[in-house]
Amino acid sequence: MSQHIIVWFRQDLRLDDNPALESAVNSASAIIPIYIDDETCGRQPGTMGRWWRDASLRKLNAALKARGSRLIYRTGKAAQILPALAQEVGAKAVVWNRQYEADIVARDTDIKKSLKDSGIDAESSNGALLFEPWEVTSKSTGGPFKVFTPFWRACRALGLKRALWDAPAKLPAPDSWPDSAPLPATDAPSHMDRLGGWQPGEDGARAALSLFLTQNIRGYAERRNLPAEPATSRLSPHLRWGEISPARIVSETKNADIAADDGDKFLAELGWREFSYQLLYHNPALSETCLQEKFEAFPWRNDPHELEAWKRGETGYPIVDAGMRELRRTGYMHNRVRMIAASFLIKHLLVDWREGEKWFWECLVDADPANNSASWQWVAGCGADAAPYFRIFNPILQGPKFDADGVYTKTYVPELNALSGKTLYAPWTAKSDMLDGGQIALGETYPYPIVNHEAARARALESFKSL
Ligand SMILES: Cc1cc2nc3c(=O)[nH]c(=O)nc-3n(C[C@H](O)[C@H](O)[C@H](O)COP(=O)(O)OP(=O)(O)OC[C@H]3O[C@@H](n4cnc5c(N)ncnc54)[C@H](O)[C@@H]3O)c2cc1C
Repeated sequence: MSQHIIVWFRQDLRLDDNPALESAVNSASAIIPIYIDDETCGRQPGTMGRWWRDASLRKLNAALKARGSRLIYRTGKAAQILPALAQEVGAKAVVWNRQYEADIVARDTDIKKSLKDSGIDAESSNGALLFEPWEVTSKSTGGPFKVFTPFWRACRALGLKRALWDAPAKLPAPDSWPDSAPLPATDAPSHMDRLGGWQPGEDGARAALSLFLTQNIRGYAERRNLPAEPATSRLSPHLRWGEISPARIVSETKNADIAADDGDKFLAELGWREFSYQLLYHNPALSETCLQEKFEAFPWRNDPHELEAWKRGETGYPIVDAGMRELRRTGYMHNRVRMIAASFLIKHLLVDWREGEKWFWECLVDADPANNSASWQWVAGCGADAAPYFRIFNPILQGPKFDADGVYTKTYVPELNALSGKTLYAPWTAKSDMLDGGQIALGETYPYPIVNHEAARARALESFKSL
């Protein structure tokens, strides 16, 4: 009897430590790998997310081919494509790794049932997280944690390490392959700076982890806040598309020759990812609804011109503008600057956090259904364990604090190259000879601030009080 198994790749574009693939390798006479671009279910990736995914699919296909296999690519409803394909190839089972958005969970549950009703096995595994979102619960409430620190303490107590599976050396192929549509083209959007140095795919993920653990993690606890330093892992887009498993990252970090503090702090950031997924699973409308309900009544201004200026990186606050331009050019923004830029939009401009969330979703290569919404809610003060609303980042002081030499800021706002120190972050305070000498004409070559910091801060606090 046929022992064909379909492996449905989704947000797990890797062969290493892939539990669904591993389960198939153990019992299949032939494996049929498929990716389905199902636009009818789940939040669709934005421009940069899609670019990354499509590049990653090519890498996955190449890795499969090197093992005597290939990726079948189809577009349409997974709920129709999978049962039909299972009939066509005479599959005994379909296996996949789980996702956690509510509509995807509902669709997958239906697919599982319909396959089983037709006598085909269907099994899902956890390939994306260290713990399932329902697995780590508070002893006092029995429900999910609402605060990060006890959540992560509970995770660590359960043990972060688990057994890993290496990528199989060979994959058994069927006698004949089912049809596949051509893989999507992967031209980078024209505004994107290819020097961002991204390498989508599993090899790129392993290279990024290795570079980080052998060179860049030193002093992570402090240096991770400095946007000019190569001091973070840049693993976020790789994790977003499952090109590396968090369990693999834990194992390599624990085995690395690094300071314990640095390793612990880095793993705690992975903990924030786990926490965000737990929030998404238990709050399916995370990208649309404030976790703290009172914020639904917040008096947002939502001025469309100011929102546009923020998106273009033309707010007149250099550290904010540098971040927004980094985002457009590279599909990424440093975490510290994400916090400053997001806080500026929400608090200085009083634009609803959901507008910013949508723009990041469109532009980030790592735009993630859990991390993006949870982080925006955190900055807005309406999320779980969030920064209090009255903590308003001062964009004039954050620059000199975290980019003292201006290296990061000038990379993206080169028209201010002639300025330095505190003046760089408040160009309107520069003496006229300094501006003239640097060919800076405020209002022409670089904008005046679109809001006055002190006035905007007072207005934000007033609006918050009105809640
Ligand atoms: C407004 C805002 C929006 C964000 N949107 C996203 C997003 O769409 N996708 C995304 O992956 N991260 C998002 N983050 C979190 C964080 O900025 C990025 O994960 C980080 O900058 C990625 O760089 P890195 O991989 O070098 O991080 P590292 O410092 O090397 O961290 C390692 C990994 O931990 C996880 N991580 C780190 N910080 C966080 C965090 N605060 N919350 C959840 N997970 C975290 C990421 O998976 C990251 O790759 C956002 C943060 C803010 C403030």
